[in-house]
Amino acid sequence: MDQHRCTGSGCAQIAETDLEGHLLCGRHFYAVASKRLAVYRSGHTGLDGTARSETAISALLSDLVSKATGLAAKSASLTTSEREEMYELALSALALRECFPKGLHLEPHDRKQHE
Ligand SMILES: [Zn+2]
Repeated sequence: MDQHRCTGSGCAQIAETDLEGHLLCGRHFYAVASKRLAVYRSGHTGLDGTARSETAISALLSDLVSKATGLAAKSASLTTSEREEMYELALSALALRECFPKGLHLEPHDRKQHE
């Protein structure tokens, strides 16, 4: 089986999953995903240039939920309590995703003015 190293800084663990293109071990996935959640939570108020579209964030959250759930279920490197934290993370990502549209509003209103 082809095994890759985690891309977390100074980490020598085998990557168990990936997030936004970065190969990560269970612990680094948790660290990165937690930061992402904090960003998404504060960043969905405005779509000003740097922010991703709500649809993109919704898709990323879906990905994060499925990977965190998978790690919580079968990661070999995490302890029982770390798996529980991972599951909590999946639940908060799922709850946050409910705040975003599921592809219904692909663009904000400002694309087309009422003129
Ligand atoms: Zn790592």
